[in-house]
Amino acid sequence: MAEQGTLFIYSGPSGVGKGTLLGPLMDPDSLRFSVSMTTRAPRPGEADGREYFFVSREAFEETIASGGLLEYAQYNGNYYGTPRKMVEEELAQGRDVILEIEVQGARQVRKAFPQAVSIFILPPSYEILCERLAGRGTESPQVVENRLAQAKRELLCAGEYDYIIVNGDVETARKQLQAVLTAAKCEKRFMDPFIEKVCEFA
Ligand code: 5GP
Repeated sequence: MAEQGTLFIYSGPSGVGKGTLLGPLMDPDSLRFSVSMTTRAPRPGEADGREYFFVSREAFEETIASGGLLEYAQYNGNYYGTPRKMVEEELAQGRDVILEIEVQGARQVRKAFPQAVSIFILPPSYEILCERLAGRGTESPQVVENRLAQAKRELLCAGEYDYIIVNGDVETARKQLQAVLTAAKCEKRFMDPFIEKVCEFA
């Protein structure tokens, strides 16, 4: 089997349901979620080290300067970034890692890891996304408006991804996501070392 784990990039506009789809599919033995670092404030119910590592701008900028991030981006006035160490260690140990990141970060990761498999979650329509975002009720109208503007920019990048999943019916979309995570492991480009090993007799 492939010795190195597979790196998944997982994106979609705010409010599209990325967490809802992925949550039940996480498996600490085989698929690890990369906990990002951010300068945004925790939302009610979020815990430091679980959803994010919540840090100051100074701490974030120090981590950038020391090369501790695999990628980072600014989103709605806050920094978000992927701590490098955990990702590299898990991949080296053969475990798959999933990065839930926005589109600018995704571009950086694709450059650094051309073998990464990328998945984009689309809403069934822009109108439905607007309703979902407004209905979340955890942010001010200004923040919701900023997120919608951001969502438009992100939707335009969907074509850069390997797989597109439409989150209309949650169960269907989750099955599709599971199928993609499974099928990606069988892509020939990851299996070349195994093919060679089995065919050593030739
Ligand atoms: P939220 O504030 O809603 O948790 O996240 C806002 C956006 O930042 C989402 O699109 C999320 O996927 C993205 N994001 C979360 N962590 C990272 C990260 O480490 N890097 C980048 N580039 N984006 C991230």
